[in-house]
Amino acid sequence: MSLYECKFDEVLTNIEKVRLRVNQHQIIKIIAVSKSVGSSEISNMYDIGQRAFGENRIQDLKSKVETLNKLPIEWHFIGRLQTNKINALIDLNPSLMHSCSSLKMAQEIDKRLEVKGKTMSVLLQINSAYEDQKAGVLPEDAIKVYDEILSTCKNIKLKGVMSIGAHSDDKALIRKSFKITHNIFTQLQTQGAKYCSMGMSSDYELAVECGSNMLRIGSTFFK
Ligand SMILES: *Cc1c(COP(=O)(O)O)cnc(C)c1O
Repeated sequence: MSLYECKFDEVLTNIEKVRLRVNQHQIIKIIAVSKSVGSSEISNMYDIGQRAFGENRIQDLKSKVETLNKLPIEWHFIGRLQTNKINALIDLNPSLMHSCSSLKMAQEIDKRLEVKGKTMSVLLQINSAYEDQKAGVLPEDAIKVYDEILSTCKNIKLKGVMSIGAHSDDKALIRKSFKITHNIFTQLQTQGAKYCSMGMSSDYELAVECGSNMLRIGSTFFK
């Protein structure tokens, strides 16, 4: 068994343990966050069956998309997006953009999609840990902003919400931030929200316990 198979099996087993306990009818999607590795590592991970990969910089995404263009990889963008990089992101046809952090950003993306005659699937990022260094809308504004994006951004296919768990060693704090996001996600399901993207290497089991159905896991796979 390759190193990647071992790691992958270990993570899947951990996820399944929690999922079977809390969420038996939930399919959980894993995004392998490949920001710290090159194309050959991605290719190795592809060979054991992983199809969805996440990047947080447009430049890296672009070069990996180009290098690996023969493989039917589903690319996710998970990082901060500067306005001057929006066109570049659209041109890369990401499968899902996780990190739309404001109504203004959604409208900027929508404007450029309109010009290009394209659409993009997007998640609204929620700053459920109330941390200054994190991007995203505050929980109390999330539903209103989500509805405004739905009604004003015709070229955006809004698919749900994304959060980064609280930056803390205190599990209770992290759990609290995940629960806030999941609660908003539940309220948005009538508006078509399908994905609740939360959980990384350090907290994915907790995220599954709190109802995540999309995990973004990097260092655990690739270190
Ligand atoms: C890097 C990153 C991840 C993955 O983090 P790991 O700790 O390496 O699993 C997930 N989400 C975002 C937004 C990231 O930037």
